Amino acid sequence: MFYPFDYTFILLIPALILAFYAQSKVKSTYATLSQKQSRAGLSGFEVAKQLIQQNNLSLRVEETPGQLTDHYDPSREVLRLSTDVARGGSIADYSIAAHEVGHALQKREKYGAFALRSILVPVASIGSQAAFPLFFIGLIFSFRFLMDIGILFFSLAVLFQVITLPVEYDASRRAYLALTHSGLVAVDEQPDIKKMLNAAALTYVAATAMAALQLLRLILLRQSRD
Ligand SMILES: [Zn+2]
Repeated sequence: MFYPFDYTFILLIPALILAFYAQSKVKSTYATLSQKQSRAGLSGFEVAKQLIQQNNLSLRVEETPGQLTDHYDPSREVLRLSTDVARGGSIADYSIAAHEVGHALQKREKYGAFALRSILVPVASIGSQAAFPLFFIGLIFSFRFLMDIGILFFSLAVLFQVITLPVEYDASRRAYLALTHSGLVAVDEQPDIKKMLNAAALTYVAATAMAALQLLRLILLRQSRD
C-alpha cells in the first residue's frame, strides 16, 4: 500500500513549510494591522462604497457572517464583506474591502485571467473533489486508466490555482491604486496597506506550490505502477 505514507510524501514538505510560513505571515500582519485604525475613520463598508462610487461601478455591498469570508460575487454584482471588515475601520479592513473592489474592476475591464478563472471554477471544483478518490482507487486496484483520469482532473485543479495567482495579485494592485488615489488614506498609511495586500497574496502562492507538488506526487506514484 502506497497511500498515505509512501516516499513521495517527502515532496510535499517544502510546500507545507511555505504554506505554514504564508499562514503565519498573513495572520501576524492581520493581527498588527487590524489594530491600526485608519485616520480617515471610515468603516470597511464605507470604504467599499466610496471606491465603488469613485470608480463608477454598480454593485451592492452586503455584510456576511464569518471571518475572512469577504468576496465579490460577479454573477449577482454583490460585494460581501465579513462583519469585522464591514464594521471595522483598520488598515487591514481597508485593504480587504479594496481588494474585493479590485476584483469588480477586473470584471468591468474584462481582465482576461479573471474571465478565464470564472469559467474554470465549476470544472476545477469537480476536478479537485474527484481526482483523489479516482486516483487512489486506480492505484489500489491497479486500474491505470482511473489513475490517468485522476491525474487529468487534478491537473485542472492545478491550472485553476495557477490562474488564480495573477488574478489575486492584479486585484491587490488595483486595490492599492484605487485606495491611494481615493484620498481615503494618508501617504504614511500606504506602506501598511501594501504589506497587508502582499501578505494575503502570499497564501495563494503557497496553495499553488502545494497543488503543483501534489500533482508531481501523483505522477510519480503513477509511474511506479508501470
Ligand atoms: Zn481576491
